[in-house]
Amino acid sequence: MQARPLRCRTGQMTKGSKHDVQQGEFQHGIWHYGNIYVTIYADQTGFSSPERRLSLAAVAIDIDGVSRTYPNGLRAIERVDLRVQAGEFVTLLGPSGCGKSTLLRMIAGLVPPTAGAIRLQPFAPGRAPLSYVFQSPTLMPWASVARNVRLPLELADMPEAEIARHVGEALALVGLADVADFYPRELSGGMQMRVSIARALVNDAPLLLMDEPFGALDEITRGRLDQEIRALWARRALTVLFVTHSVTEAVFLSTRVIVMAPRPGRILGEVSIAEAHPRADGFRLTPRFAEYCARLTELLALGGAGEDDLPGRPSGAFV
Ligand code: ADP
Repeated sequence: MQARPLRCRTGQMTKGSKHDVQQGEFQHGIWHYGNIYVTIYADQTGFSSPERRLSLAAVAIDIDGVSRTYPNGLRAIERVDLRVQAGEFVTLLGPSGCGKSTLLRMIAGLVPPTAGAIRLQPFAPGRAPLSYVFQSPTLMPWASVARNVRLPLELADMPEAEIARHVGEALALVGLADVADFYPRELSGGMQMRVSIARALVNDAPLLLMDEPFGALDEITRGRLDQEIRALWARRALTVLFVTHSVTEAVFLSTRVIVMAPRPGRILGEVSIAEAHPRADGFRLTPRFAEYCARLTELLALGGAGEDDLPGRPSGAFV
């Protein structure tokens, strides 16, 4: 096949796929640079086309033609199609206002779609289908670490002996067994976020939704928690859907990065991060890491500015 350039602000890509839909502003298809694959959607709505390529049997989240228009008329999400396979670590990457949180909240059932449907993988009776980690730890300040973590199980009326076991395991998983009796005010920001993660893990849900959980932390703590969440993902065989606007965090964490754009919120394309687990910190210093970042930055550039980049607002960086 003849190599053709993609209309893209920075650099050119070589087309490597037979899937080619002449529609919309961008050429549709899978493009490659060496072993890095970048999928661009002509209709900008994800996997609605016939080549939806993941097997139905292992689908953890199926987002089918989903839109969300808020009562004020704002189109936060427009016709998004996305499938997340069980066991994937998928990141939604995009500038402020592209609808990442709205999409996550719809998956969690906190906000209804105005069109389309979202299906989750079947889950065992009595087991929570998913857990959610918010941008801030949202801990009860008057309750100890252990009491904060046990809250979902108390709400589910779990017997006391089982609660104690689950809380002990969750705290051990995030390295907080020694501070079970501490109060949130006695913990650093990173430790508070670990408590929030323990509270999310305590109900053994197979699907973990994380809405920019480390955005408020310093870079060193954030890097450490990125490592920890990948280790938890592997150890617990979780499916993770993670939201960030950091290109580097997306590359380090994910098996696949979905790039979104605003006005209206939609999916532009995706990049598979085909790197083995575990990923050492040194991965961040490799040429491949830089390559992944470059591909994602190019995709982001196709989508234009985020809300924080609009005139009259302070300029925002993606990384
Ligand atoms: P992101 O997480 O990518 O920053 P959001 O999903 O938070 O984006 O928001 C997407 C768009 O929807 C933004 O323009 C935001 O201002 C708007 N929005 C979010 N929540 C509401 C709401 N409850 N009512 C009206 N508009 C909203």
